[in-house]
Amino acid sequence: MHSSVSDGPASWYRASVAVELESCRPLQGETRADVCVIGGGVTGCSTALHLAERGYSVVLLEAGDIGHGASGRSGGQILPGLGTDITTVQQALGLPRAREVWEMSREAVRLTAELVERHAIPCELAWGYLHAAVKPRHVKELEAFREQMSRDYDYDALEWLEGDALREHVVTEAYPAALYDREGGHLHPLNYTLGLARAAQRAGVSLHPRSAALEVQRGRPATVVTEQGRVTADFVVLATNAYQAGLIPELSGRIMRAANYMIATAPMSEDQAAQVLPKNDALSDANFVLDYYRLSADRRLIYGGEVSYDGREPPRLKERMDAKIARLFPVLKGVPIEYRWGGDVAITLNRAPDFGRLGDNLYYAQGYSGHGMALAGLAGKLMAEAISGQSERFDVFSAMPHRQFPGGRALRKPLLVLATNFYKLRDRL
Ligand SMILES: Cc1cc2nc3c(=O)[nH]c(=O)nc-3n(C[C@H](O)[C@H](O)[C@H](O)COP(=O)(O)OP(=O)(O)OC[C@H]3O[C@@H](n4cnc5c(N)ncnc54)[C@H](O)[C@@H]3O)c2cc1C
Repeated sequence: MHSSVSDGPASWYRASVAVELESCRPLQGETRADVCVIGGGVTGCSTALHLAERGYSVVLLEAGDIGHGASGRSGGQILPGLGTDITTVQQALGLPRAREVWEMSREAVRLTAELVERHAIPCELAWGYLHAAVKPRHVKELEAFREQMSRDYDYDALEWLEGDALREHVVTEAYPAALYDREGGHLHPLNYTLGLARAAQRAGVSLHPRSAALEVQRGRPATVVTEQGRVTADFVVLATNAYQAGLIPELSGRIMRAANYMIATAPMSEDQAAQVLPKNDALSDANFVLDYYRLSADRRLIYGGEVSYDGREPPRLKERMDAKIARLFPVLKGVPIEYRWGGDVAITLNRAPDFGRLGDNLYYAQGYSGHGMALAGLAGKLMAEAISGQSERFDVFSAMPHRQFPGGRALRKPLLVLATNFYKLRDRL
């Protein structure tokens, strides 16, 4: 079994928690609910919150603590779009449907901001995002992307930056050009997730941390079994993403689990911050195995990148991260890395998110392929709509075709490693 990075070193996010949940305990004994949500990340907390607001009784089971998975460990970038190119969606569903998907991905970003405001979540939400070219090839790709988005998707929020205009946003010589997206932004992902969980509690949801679902007995009602209890519910929502570990084998075969790594430096001075990201944007580069970063409110550089497929930290991770940061921002020489941690992403074969239902009462949303911080919030809202009988919007996503990784569990990993190594090689060209 995949050794979980969740047991690794504590993240800076855990060290800077600003949201206190109302008291909650592991599930004990039998309970009944309209809906049992499995997983306490953004997908699960948003689903629970939106269902409770619609009057459903909801029990949420989380194997660790709330935000234990990717949602509490991520880069915190809140971006429109998907983990895949919108062209992939267009080819599968046609332009009109792809436009709906794109518009809903923008809605996901607005929803994040609304939830933060409505529930007064202290998560440092800030706006501005740079998608930066590293190679001349990327410059052409970004130009083509901007043109496509304006022409086919009426998306005109992208601004072309190069030279001095680019250095007003990010002070480095590393990027020949970038697209600035004013609709993208960033936040403290763990505080955001905990804020959603607290809002869900206040709306009446029973949260149970340290209550792993061990078995889902399907049927109507369904029963979800934990070590010390069981929940009988009319609907089950699977919101376990990369951390599912085979609970529903039909679904775990459609995602590949991969670890991604992050560091946080010590806080830098105001002057140093002004020589890194003076406008406090988030940034990710255009490599396939991408690097991404942003500043925290206390001016730490929160930097992510590097993958692993066996849950083991890549060798010399800290040194490699140090070297990357020194190359991008020599001004940060002497600012030490204080925290490093990892988290798991769920990748689908086509990198589009995998939403759907099994039978008529088990809903799932998974496989955000590293791009789910905003979309997971909307996924929760769409699943609440679908369970309430309004499934049109959910079904725009669920129409996206998905396949099992070829070769089943045994071959899934080697195939993805091969594919990723190919792209890593391309990233170097
Ligand atoms: C290092 C890293 C950086 C990232 N950066 C970004 C970014 O900058 N922007 C972006 O858009 N996306 C990013 N992502 C992806 C994003 O974090 C995810 O797409 C998103 O958080 C998925 O949310 P989720 O709730 O579906 O899954 P998760 O947050 O992973 O939650 C799933 C939860 O289910 C629980 N669980 C699993 N099995 C069980 C069980 N049997 N019973 C009970 N509970 C169970 C887990 O413990 C976990 O807490 C990043 C991911 C990682 C790992």
